[in-house]
Amino acid sequence: MDEVIIIGAGIGGLTLGLNLHKAGIPCRIYESVPEVRAIGVGINLLPHATKELAALGLEAALAKVAVATKDATFFNRFGQLIYQEPLGRAAGYDHPQFSIHRGDLQMVLLDAFRDRAGADRLVVNRHCLGVAQDEAGVTVTFSDGPGGKERFALRGGVAIACDGINSAVRKQFFPDEGEPRYSGVNMWRGVTRWKPMLSGASMVRAGWLSHGKMVIYPIREVGADGLQLINWVAEIETPNYRKRDWNRAGSLQDFIAPFSDWHFDWLDVPAFIRAADSVLEFPMVDQDPLLRWSFGRITMLGDAAHPMVPRGSNGAGQAILDAKALTSALSGIADPAAALAAYEKQRLEATTRIVLTNRTNPPDAILREVFQRTHDKPFKTIDDVISREELVALSDGYKRIAGYSKDALRQ
Ligand SMILES: Cc1cc2nc3c(=O)[nH]c(=O)nc-3n(C[C@H](O)[C@H](O)[C@H](O)COP(=O)(O)OP(=O)(O)OC[C@H]3O[C@@H](n4cnc5c(N)ncnc54)[C@H](O)[C@@H]3O)c2cc1C
Repeated sequence: MDEVIIIGAGIGGLTLGLNLHKAGIPCRIYESVPEVRAIGVGINLLPHATKELAALGLEAALAKVAVATKDATFFNRFGQLIYQEPLGRAAGYDHPQFSIHRGDLQMVLLDAFRDRAGADRLVVNRHCLGVAQDEAGVTVTFSDGPGGKERFALRGGVAIACDGINSAVRKQFFPDEGEPRYSGVNMWRGVTRWKPMLSGASMVRAGWLSHGKMVIYPIREVGADGLQLINWVAEIETPNYRKRDWNRAGSLQDFIAPFSDWHFDWLDVPAFIRAADSVLEFPMVDQDPLLRWSFGRITMLGDAAHPMVPRGSNGAGQAILDAKALTSALSGIADPAAALAAYEKQRLEATTRIVLTNRTNPPDAILREVFQRTHDKPFKTIDDVISREELVALSDGYKRIAGYSKDALRQ
């Protein structure tokens, strides 16, 4: 088959490139920005995703820059412990959960792709404008970067849109879809250098969205100064929002008030927020699931196909699983359109369930249950509020839907 054209060198595009190269399928990645730089803050890779990255020989490189997360720990806004469970290898999985800077993850993927496939297989400054196809292949039109004047029409065997939540290809096939859908929750995100807290590899969720919720986890191991790089997200129900821009700076005064009395024995939250290197502001958005992604020789992958609200640590992971499934389909089925249809069949329903569950019952549903049952008051003991069995069931239910229960991964 002629080259696979991959549009976008984010987490999904690079992972697809690595998988196709391993399978001996020629491909080239076209990325809009002039230089792929380590942008973003923290991301989590759950064992279903780290299993696929290990199969690409990347576990050791990731382990050098990530934290192998040991436990998920939930508190109410009074700092009372609700629930704790082990994660990754500590929970008996064959693969770790990694908490990692998105930029570090992207650089591990980028270095591996350039080393293995060759640097000329990634072309920057190519902003996709549209796709077309005929019996023999696809034609993808690019400009030299966003808003660039020069045009390039490139031919390939199939085109895979990995161009993220504002995908140009998705807009071409679904012109009336409109802007990403705001969940009603705004996020302020940052990283702070701080001494290790709790197990030193804990993923903390605390509070609830209506009064202010925090997600906190370390993304780099302790440095020579004894500190870790710790990622945090403040999530608050907020009626208004501004369109997502991955680089928009946030202001402390817009969100710090609900956390001003969060002085816990494991963390002084306001001091920790104030010590951040910088603060970014993103609205929590997704899109309604699509009924199809594949159109003949063209399909979508990752956020372009199924953007989801980041409440279950599955955005990057599902893009990684898509890349594996698409490569298997292209390796096993000679007709490109049939291969893309088979990929869609395998992945669309599975990711639709996650997009919808992330809206209603992601892992932080544990916090909602306790918030509602206690009417946002401190409790005497958690057993008076909710049983351990119910807490485990809430957590395990999400693992099954998102495809990372231990049983599913051993199959
Ligand atoms: C700059 C940036 C920062 C992010 N920061 C975070 C974060 O801190 N935490 C988090 O959980 N998630 C973050 N994400 C989203 C996260 O990477 C995705 O949710 C997830 O990893 C799925 O990956 P993806 O490859 O589908 O999309 P992305 O990782 O978003 O990658 C899409 C890629 O396509 C490129 N692109 C876009 N339009 C075009 C076009 N028309 N032509 C060619 N290329 C195009 C983009 O530059 C990008 O490299 C960020 C995404 C970006 C782009």
